[in-house]
Amino acid sequence: MTVLEIKGLRAGVEGREILNGIDLVVRSGEVHAVMGPNGAGKSTLSGVILGRPGYEVLGGSVTLDGEDVLAMTTPERALAGLHLVMQYPTEVPGVRLVDAMVEAFVARGRDASDVARLLGDEAATIGFDEKLLVRSLNVDFSGGEKKRNETLQLAALVPKVAILDELDSGLDIDALRACARRIEALTEPHPDGLGDTVDGVGVLAITHYARLLTELRPDAVHILVKGRMVAQGGPELADQLEADGYAAFAADGDEADAAPTRAPRDLGTLDDLFAPPS
Ligand code: ADP
Ligand code: MG
Repeated sequence: MTVLEIKGLRAGVEGREILNGIDLVVRSGEVHAVMGPNGAGKSTLSGVILGRPGYEVLGGSVTLDGEDVLAMTTPERALAGLHLVMQYPTEVPGVRLVDAMVEAFVARGRDASDVARLLGDEAATIGFDEKLLVRSLNVDFSGGEKKRNETLQLAALVPKVAILDELDSGLDIDALRACARRIEALTEPHPDGLGDTVDGVGVLAITHYARLLTELRPDAVHILVKGRMVAQGGPELADQLEADGYAAFAADGDEADAAPTRAPRDLGTLDDLFAPPS
């Protein structure tokens, strides 16, 4: 049983605090949905957990089975079993998905000889065109193809905890259903590709819409507004949100803050795998 534990997490960018104390525990096989309006800090939360450059951790902790995640480099976090499905998947000219996956398997001590077949099977499951496996990663892919590609990597790598940052953006309804179902299946115990059976993947699903959660059934729904968790509950909370919007969950003292503007970042785009498209 794996436990990702986020305690009192505070983080910001350029001196501005964006996350004001987040507490969240995700265990193997559990699905936690984090919903919130634009600018609430959802992508910041996912970026801080995976170590995206540019964020400052101001307090609190993130541990995976007791290990200090915040002290690890991003590759170390991935090898420890964390996986991020990015809101804006990065285009990587000259690198094919199949080659990237071979590297990832080797890094994990897994036999990579079967990667092409495995990816072919996974592609068929979620309706991803197999030809894209041997094209440059995400280059000229449609929004939906990028998200299917991300789902494929997730299914092939079998992480302990997956963070989905708006998996649903860019996906049409059929693709969304296919990807959500595939991930729901991963939350059950399954083969790890090394001959063992492992616990189901724990999922932190960041989304605006309840639709994702009709296939990927959440155990808990958390509502993030202005860097704070303002409500949590069961799946019914997502339905309530769909009906009433976020207004009912506004954080205290809201009106006082003007909408912040996103300051330009210069983190060296070649190194920043997380940068949104310019
Ligand atoms: P969400 O994913 O919930 O829409 P984000 O986490 O992307 O929200 O952003 C939260 C807030 O932090 C927003 O006000 C955004 O403008 C700001 N922000 C996020 N990243 C940066 C950055 N790199 N530089 C400046 N401001 C940022
Ligand atoms: Mg976001």
